Amino acid sequence: MKCPFCGSFNGQVLDTRQTERSSAVRRRRVCLECKKRFTTFERLEDFTIMVVKSDQRREPFDIKKVREGIMRAVEKRPVSVEAVDALVNEVEQDLTKEYVMEISSSAIGEKILEKLWDIDMVAYIRFVSVYRKFADIDTFMQELKKLKKENLKRERSRSQL
Ligand SMILES: [Zn+2]
Repeated sequence: MKCPFCGSFNGQVLDTRQTERSSAVRRRRVCLECKKRFTTFERLEDFTIMVVKSDQRREPFDIKKVREGIMRAVEKRPVSVEAVDALVNEVEQDLTKEYVMEISSSAIGEKILEKLWDIDMVAYIRFVSVYRKFADIDTFMQELKKLKKENLKRERSRSQL
């Protein structure tokens, strides 16, 4: 962002705030050349991935929420914080690589699940049960059965390697 005082591009963001209508963010910046401070307004669409929730509401993608969800799933499991961070990074990188402007929360969930599978089975099941919000225990049991089958298939294909 160009400094309006001296024209330098050497600036730093001090503070980011969402505007009331949440279609833009307000950033407080400082120019590292002339030390003057200025405020910019940026449209979210320009740099933020929007997450479309199941009720069609949109909110800016927040990597912290992804991390929290995963941390909850791996609670008391033998999964290191490093492994969680690596997973979170992968999810974020996938999203930026795909250059999506909008993604459904369920697509993010699927991405996380895909990666959790290889890390910890219990965490995977926990995440499934929270994020898919099963209407009843039968649907959950069905899902578990499906998982077992998929798991077997994977094991087989792995042992063939
Ligand atoms: Zn300046």
